[in-house]
Amino acid sequence: MNILPTIKTKRLAIKLKPSAEKIVKRKHPWVFEDSIAKQNIEGDTGDLVIVYDTKKNNFLACGLYDPYSPIRVKLIHFGKPTQINEDWFAAKVSQAYEIRKPLLKTDTNSYRLLFGENDNLPGFIADIYDNVLVVKLYSHIWFPYLNWIIKPLIDITGCDCIVLRLSRMLQSKGEIYNLKDGQVIYGTLENEVIIFREHGVLFSANVIKGHKTGYFLDHRHNRKRVGELAKGKTVLDVFSYAGGFSVHALKGGAKEVISLDISKQALDMAKENSTLNIHQGKHKIMVADAFEGLQSLIDTKKKFDIVVIDPPSFAKRESEIQKAKNSYARLAVLGSKLVVNNGILVLASCSSRVIAEDFFDISEESIISTGRTFSILQKTKHDIDHPINFPEGAYLKCGYYRLN
Ligand code: SAH
Repeated sequence: MNILPTIKTKRLAIKLKPSAEKIVKRKHPWVFEDSIAKQNIEGDTGDLVIVYDTKKNNFLACGLYDPYSPIRVKLIHFGKPTQINEDWFAAKVSQAYEIRKPLLKTDTNSYRLLFGENDNLPGFIADIYDNVLVVKLYSHIWFPYLNWIIKPLIDITGCDCIVLRLSRMLQSKGEIYNLKDGQVIYGTLENEVIIFREHGVLFSANVIKGHKTGYFLDHRHNRKRVGELAKGKTVLDVFSYAGGFSVHALKGGAKEVISLDISKQALDMAKENSTLNIHQGKHKIMVADAFEGLQSLIDTKKKFDIVVIDPPSFAKRESEIQKAKNSYARLAVLGSKLVVNNGILVLASCSSRVIAEDFFDISEESIISTGRTFSILQKTKHDIDHPINFPEGAYLKCGYYRLN
């Protein structure tokens, strides 16, 4: 692990404008650059910042200084003063592991161990795929602390290997201390494609080249549910990526599954993933833009027992919220037209800027607009390895509608 940098940090003291102070008292982890009222010295990447109460002068929270982000300080601890040291990080990893333990009692060896802000480590993600741990960093603040965090990660998970992934933003700005995206920082990686289990279903992920850390772990509970509903059914999996929903459906006994995605490479992975599991159903792939692909299926009068629509985040910025809502509405309309009588439409959203209530309202109005009625089977949010600690941490929602 001597490839990890040794970076000296210092301590800063800040006070906040009143509105920001109120938010921090509610344990919100973000301090924007324009909410800082006073700062004693200039900060560098990863410096420890103590936030003091403006009037009483006592400790409110502490966090790490990020000169590259408008979220200038990312808070990691609130309430009483504490030492941020190796033990503190070990305690965080161990608390996070405790939360995930029930999941590890199932036939699953892939999970998110650290979910950024929601585990008090803003911009720090750690995902496990069998014996390989993938750390994905979204902020420069973590470089000085990598040595401290890696050790408890190895001790607690017993992983053989750690791969470092760096966000695109991170790679494009500032010092990354001779570290590369995809670098193995502990152990040896025998094969960049890892085979892992998700509720008894086998998948593979490319931990070096795959999206995010290789796979999307967040929908695990929804995929399991779709698998349970799929026996003897025909299923359309839209925005399928590596076939998460498709493969659970096939394993659950689906008669026929079509995985639709714009990326041929993603669909090749979906194909590969389905062959890892014993199943009798047919698996077809359709390379297409979702909106066009759905319309062409409608034009050929095709219908499915179950349609799953799980698009990428449509609202990456505040200004895109309305456009995102319109896209959700269009997808719900297209999906409704493809579901048989008494069939199931599963609609998901991973845009944190579109809150659950709005997403479900849009979905339901859109279904009704096609002249169909529905009953709600279920509405779900995050699986337990994606805990939610602050409003922006909640991004995933999924509605199951039975259409008549
Ligand atoms: N449902 C997946 C995750 C979806 S990720 C799972 O359970 O793992 C989003 C996917 O949408 C990516 O694979 C991406 O290639 C695909 N995508 C993005 N834009 C698209 C479009 N316009 N039409 C079809 N697929 C699209």
